[in-house]
Amino acid sequence: MKKIGLFGGTFNPIHYGHLRSAEEICESFQLDQVIFIPASFPPHKKEGKILPAPLRVEMLRLAIADNPHFSLSEVELQRPGKSYSVETVGHFRQQFGSDTQLYFILGLDAFLEIDTWKEYTSLFGLCHFIIMTRPGFGKSFSPECLPVELAKDFCYDAQKGGYAHGSGFLVFPKEITALDISSTKIRENFQKGRSVKYLLPPRVEHFIYKNKLYQAKDVRP
Ligand code: ATP
Repeated sequence: MKKIGLFGGTFNPIHYGHLRSAEEICESFQLDQVIFIPASFPPHKKEGKILPAPLRVEMLRLAIADNPHFSLSEVELQRPGKSYSVETVGHFRQQFGSDTQLYFILGLDAFLEIDTWKEYTSLFGLCHFIIMTRPGFGKSFSPECLPVELAKDFCYDAQKGGYAHGSGFLVFPKEITALDISSTKIRENFQKGRSVKYLLPPRVEHFIYKNKLYQAKDVRP
């Protein structure tokens, strides 16, 4: 059976925190592919600070170009309006059919807000979840992190190392190498003319300088 990871995010810009965690998850869950899915209008972020989607997509493309296990989907860009994960997972469920296992990948910081997502309860009946530790967030996964409203629907499966939902899909907590990197910090560094070296792939860094993204007017590479 094929195993696919779905990694949604704003990727504004993509950085080594995203890439390294995707690599570790791909390896340890033996995924065939990790599909990066940039949101067009993320419902949970302030719109003013988000670069237009085609630029974020281009940076993603550059960042994953040399990894045969990574790919990119523009499905959320093709839908008008906000990007809702329930629609995205439904799309891939239809595309791949029932003989493919889907794993929705997200950081604990994002997972703790899941009860604010559109139709979040139905998401647990569509795919597995992999919840990554988020360095700098100061919290690690515990059963209390499962949405209160649904807690009774889960029970721990020690053999599989995850919390099984009544639907049969599991929520897997996953410790990853702590790289305390965020897109926010990177944008700030560009703004202030500080170095961003070793926080994101050089090809992405060059693209940002070349297109004068995130920078105050007087900042140069
Ligand atoms: P911003 O700082 O603009 O809020 P971000 O760095 O959190 O952005 P997103 O694109 O919002 O990046 O993140 C997409 C997903 O990747 C989220 O689920 C988030 O938890 C996870 N993630 C982001 N950075 C890291 C990191 N350094 N380590 C592990 N997970 C991360």
